[in-house]
Amino acid sequence: MSASTSQGGENNSAVVLFSGGQDSTTCLAWALQRFDSVETVGFDYRQRHRIELEARPRILERLRGEFPQWSEELGEDHVIDLGVLGALSETALTRDVAIAMSGTGLPNTFVPGRNLVFLTFAAALAYRRGARHLVAGVCETDYSGYPDCRDATIKAMQQALDLGMDADFVIHTPLMRIDKAGTWGLARQIGGDAFVELIREETHTCYEGARGTRHDWGYGCGSCPACQLRAKGYALFDTAFQPDHNV
Ligand code: ZN
Repeated sequence: MSASTSQGGENNSAVVLFSGGQDSTTCLAWALQRFDSVETVGFDYRQRHRIELEARPRILERLRGEFPQWSEELGEDHVIDLGVLGALSETALTRDVAIAMSGTGLPNTFVPGRNLVFLTFAAALAYRRGARHLVAGVCETDYSGYPDCRDATIKAMQQALDLGMDADFVIHTPLMRIDKAGTWGLARQIGGDAFVELIREETHTCYEGARGTRHDWGYGCGSCPACQLRAKGYALFDTAFQPDHNV
């Protein structure tokens, strides 16, 4: 019994890869707007900072409490233990080393194959839960060139999962072609100012795990690559997307 045949052709259930960051939180709202039933999955791979994982339940609680239009669709949350991935990866996100460019031309924040592993486990979960749709906040526009975030990789992964699980999954990547300003804009379009405020207050992006200072774009050190992307995107969004600035 595959995910596609278990509920016929009308399967409108989704599993969202939900890390607690800005991108996956935006993707979660995107999914809640589209699907009848949405479950979330996060991965504990011994991240150097636990802040993202700790943000997840707060975000889910606020979505349930403050966005009644989504509370019925928002289902169970799952956290999968992938400590083995952290043990395998000698990178800046799982070890206490500085973020730098490595000899391969990728920043050492890159955990080799991380998204492939995440998608495989998310698909296994979706199969069990009878969900056809997977939603991932990967993006090839505004990132550091991670090869497992590219559209070609995701399409190949969908094919591999469909063949390997005899399923008919659809992997959705709503952020694939937009930049960070576009991600802020999408959040506003889906959930209005209240949702943008939830993202600013609760989601975590900073590679350094800093939450001491609240900037207009949220919390973070302000200088790591992730904070810089988020801040730059917010500044662009703030001038270009806010209604009072529209021309
Ligand atoms: Zn930072």
